Amino acid sequence: MLLTDLDDYIGSLLEVNRFRDYCPNGVQVEGRSEVRRIATGVTASQLLLDSAAAWGADAIIVHHGYFWRGEDAAITGIKKRRVAHLLSHDLSLLAYHLPLDAHPELGNNAQLAKLMDWQERGRFGEQNIACFGELNRPQTLSELAGGLTQKLERVPLVIGEMSSQLKKIAWCSGAAQSYFEQAIALGVDVFVTGEISEQNVHLAQESGVAFISAGHHATERYGVMALGDNLADSLGLECRYFEQNNPV
Ligand SMILES: [Zn+2]
Repeated sequence: MLLTDLDDYIGSLLEVNRFRDYCPNGVQVEGRSEVRRIATGVTASQLLLDSAAAWGADAIIVHHGYFWRGEDAAITGIKKRRVAHLLSHDLSLLAYHLPLDAHPELGNNAQLAKLMDWQERGRFGEQNIACFGELNRPQTLSELAGGLTQKLERVPLVIGEMSSQLKKIAWCSGAAQSYFEQAIALGVDVFVTGEISEQNVHLAQESGVAFISAGHHATERYGVMALGDNLADSLGLECRYFEQNNPV
């Protein structure tokens, strides 16, 4: 299909115009006009660009693209090498940031809940991206951490009493540790996100609400994978997810 039609399809699917974001959503670098084969990944690193080109992709779709607000706009150094690689291979780069966190079915947070069998009861945080709800059954913090280790294939950093019983949970993929105070105010037992900051440890200890840092990359694989599945099923495009090992 045409790149412009693909851009329109995903733009309306993820309602990209609804979001105020820190980066452009949609086509960030334009390659060939006809798209059949799409490589997906969390971050448009050089490794992903190399893998996509070697596989013969026409386009790459990621959660973390380029051109973030506040970064130097000059195309030099690492950014120059990445953009030159895309242009020389006539490969398009499409990126979806907040719209791919937030989507009620394909989004990172919805997909994380599906993977972990958490029931969503509502949303909070900036532009209603973060979720709160319940575990499918009461669990100890130790059991929840074990489940995350198994499903995300990564050992989380856990702050809290491991034997404490949990039912109410809030979660937000990626670097959403700044939502912890809002999660505490919602009266949840545990907050799960991708990263942790120093002050979160004190907030967890003083509030009694457990904090789990389950990995920025690990919590953000599933949105772009679900989007790839949607494009394969709905549009007949060939989509392949490329995992890049990232401990953070
Ligand atoms: Zn992220």
